[in-house]
Amino acid sequence: MTGKVNIDTTRLFSEGASYIISEILSELQRPDFPSSWEFAPDIPKVAWKTGTSYGRKDAWSVGYNPDYTVGVWTGNFSGESSPDLVGAEASAPLLFEIFEAIGNGQSAGWFSQPEDVATRSVCALSGQPPNSDCPVTVTELYLPGVSPVAPCTIHKMILVDSTSGYRLCRFCSAGKKVIERVYEDWPPKLATYFAQSGKLAMAIPEHNPDCTGTYAGEGPVIVSPNDDAVYVLRAHIPSSDQEIALEASAAAGAHELFWFIDGELFKRAKPGEKVFYAPEAGIHKLTCSDEEGRSSSLTLRVE
Ligand SMILES: [Zn+2]
Ligand SMILES: [Zn+2]
Repeated sequence: MTGKVNIDTTRLFSEGASYIISEILSELQRPDFPSSWEFAPDIPKVAWKTGTSYGRKDAWSVGYNPDYTVGVWTGNFSGESSPDLVGAEASAPLLFEIFEAIGNGQSAGWFSQPEDVATRSVCALSGQPPNSDCPVTVTELYLPGVSPVAPCTIHKMILVDSTSGYRLCRFCSAGKKVIERVYEDWPPKLATYFAQSGKLAMAIPEHNPDCTGTYAGEGPVIVSPNDDAVYVLRAHIPSSDQEIALEASAAAGAHELFWFIDGELFKRAKPGEKVFYAPEAGIHKLTCSDEEGRSSSLTLRVE
C-alpha cells in the first residue's frame, strides 16, 4: 500500500529520546546482529529489534528508517516450536533483505539530530560522566537537563600497601609504602554476582586487619528476608520446617558476614551464602555485619 494515512497520534517519547533510541537500535555491534549478515558490505541503516518467544515458538524482528517500518514474524502456524526460531537468526536477515529491496540499494537518509540532543564524554564501563579515575571514556549522545549527571561510581582510586597487598585508609596508611590503584567498585549485589560468576576483573583487596579506624563504605545489603514482609507461622508444623533464609550481598573485598538476631550473634556466612533461621513469633531485629563493622538491619515480623 502506498500513500499517507491520517492517524491520530500521541507522542510517548520526546524527539530527543526517540532519536537517541533510534541511534542505539541502529548499531551493528550487538548480540542480536544476524551472523549471516556479518560480512555484508552495505547494510542499510535501520533501527531494529529482535525477539524470541519463550519455548522458541516465534522469532520476530521489527525495523524502521525514516520511510518504512517493517515487521517480520517467523514461526509455525501450528504454534510448534523449533530450535531455529531465534529472532536474530531467523527473522532479522529477512528484515534486512526487505529493507535492501525496498530501498533499491539507496540509502534512505536518516533522522536529523534534534536540538535537545547533545554529545558528551562518559565512562565506557558505567556510562556515567567520568570521574578522574575512569580509565576509558567514550562519546555518547545525551539529553542536557534530563540525562543523569552524577559521575561514575564504579571506578575508585584505592590505597594499597605495596608490601602486604592490603587496602589502606587514611587511618592506617601513615608510614606505609602506599600505591594508588584504580578498582571497579560495584554495588554489593553486583559484586557478589560478578565474584560468583568469575566476572570480577580485580577484586578490591581486604582492608588492613590492623586498622583501628572505622572504615566507611557500603556495608552488606540484606537480600532475604524482605524488609516489609510479614511471616506467618503455620500451626501444627514444627518451626524447624518453617525456616527463613537469611542472605546478604557484600561489598567487594568482604569475605565474611555476621548475622545477629536481636543483638546476639546467630551465624557466620559468606557473602551470598544462605543461612536458615527458625523464627519465633514476635518482632525481631535482624542485623548483618561484615568484618569491617559495616552493617545493615531490618525488622522481621513473625506472627
Ligand atoms: Zn568509570
Ligand atoms: Zn584502615
